[in-house]
Amino acid sequence: MDDLYREVILDHYKNPGQKGHLEDSNFAFEDENPLCGDFIHIDIKTDEKGVITDAKFDGHGCAISMASADMLLESLIGKTIDDAKQLNKQDILDLLGIELSPVRLKCALLSLKVTKAAVYELKEASDDLTE
Ligand code: ZN
Repeated sequence: MDDLYREVILDHYKNPGQKGHLEDSNFAFEDENPLCGDFIHIDIKTDEKGVITDAKFDGHGCAISMASADMLLESLIGKTIDDAKQLNKQDILDLLGIELSPVRLKCALLSLKVTKAAVYELKEASDDLTE
């Protein structure tokens, strides 16, 4: 793993800016990655125009899953729900900036899966939406 990117990931893991809950979220979802034991709950708040004004996550898991959630939500603030619906796997990989093994990819994509399920208001998360 590249040292610079590893530092950025560890920094998000140790000092997550988006960690917490939103009492008045418009979109919320949670899911887990049983392969690794990662669990993420995401709250997203929008204004009347569908612009994301705040987004928070809570949960536990490995550094990759937690850093990915923090980076993803940070990147979503100021964007719209439609933008969030367009997110794909590559966006997460670009945020993380590292090569991931298939097992680690599941960790990295959990936050995306939860975010997509939230904004599409699904009852169950779907891996199809992360492609
Ligand atoms: Zn993990």
